[in-house]
Amino acid sequence: MTNKVFLNGQFVDEQDANVPYNDRGYNFGDGIYEYIRIYDNTLFTVKEHFERFLRSASELNIDLDETIESLTDKVKKLAEVNNVENGGVYIQVTRGAAPRDHAFPGPDVKPQMMAFTRSYGRPVEKLENGINAVTVEDIRWLRCDIKSLNLLGNVLAKEYAVKYNADEAIQHRGETVTEGASSNVYAIKDGVVYTHPTNNYILNGITRRVIKAVAEEQEIPFKEETFTVDFLKQADEIIVSSTSVEVMPVIKLDGEAVGNGEVGPITRQLQKGFEQKIEESH
Ligand SMILES: *Cc1c(COP(=O)(O)O)cnc(C)c1O
Repeated sequence: MTNKVFLNGQFVDEQDANVPYNDRGYNFGDGIYEYIRIYDNTLFTVKEHFERFLRSASELNIDLDETIESLTDKVKKLAEVNNVENGGVYIQVTRGAAPRDHAFPGPDVKPQMMAFTRSYGRPVEKLENGINAVTVEDIRWLRCDIKSLNLLGNVLAKEYAVKYNADEAIQHRGETVTEGASSNVYAIKDGVVYTHPTNNYILNGITRRVIKAVAEEQEIPFKEETFTVDFLKQADEIIVSSTSVEVMPVIKLDGEAVGNGEVGPITRQLQKGFEQKIEESH
């Protein structure tokens, strides 16, 4: 059975899910997206994801005639149609299809919505053993708080990681560590978790919020403060987080062991707390 794709209100076969050549997402990256995890048939933190989705739309003046409920309904149906027990759903909206012109099209041009699903399990092996990361200059624009389709900076950073046999690229603006190519970054030093404050330089991750809640519940100090690349290199433990990688330990940075080279105790505590949140979501 072929997978269905949600395209502007309809569930269509994957191979028939075509979009116009002049869609602004295609021409300009003019759109936004979300990626939501599904654990045991349940969408995880779906409300938070769609709150952020509506915020991203609003920041770009994309006029979306949707609510958290209407969006949730759509992706739930798609996950059902595709029989996704464990996996994720990707959803995006572009400003619409119109003759190519940088300026916004008129109000008659309607946003175009697309969603697809994927089935897969949790990245248990990497969560257990950790991953490698490299540092790279953050060359992105100054509205990284918007989850936009414009991902060239992120794409180039990730490709840099691949080139050096790493799973993630940790970006920095000058000396200041911002975030991963597709994740938020945490440095743990002397029992304190440090992560970049939420502003225009990073994407306000939903996983980050869950980790913050877990840290508060477990009385692990959680400081939303900037830190330098040097500080990161001296950290006892490093984590990257996202919807797909969860609470992911980094055991090597730029080829050097992080801390003693093993996944650390605070990371394990946060992983455990995160798993509890997944359990509680059912
Ligand atoms: C999506 C994303 C994240 C992680 O956000 P989650 O809501 O936790 O998935 C972090 N950084 C960037 C650049 C992202 O695009």
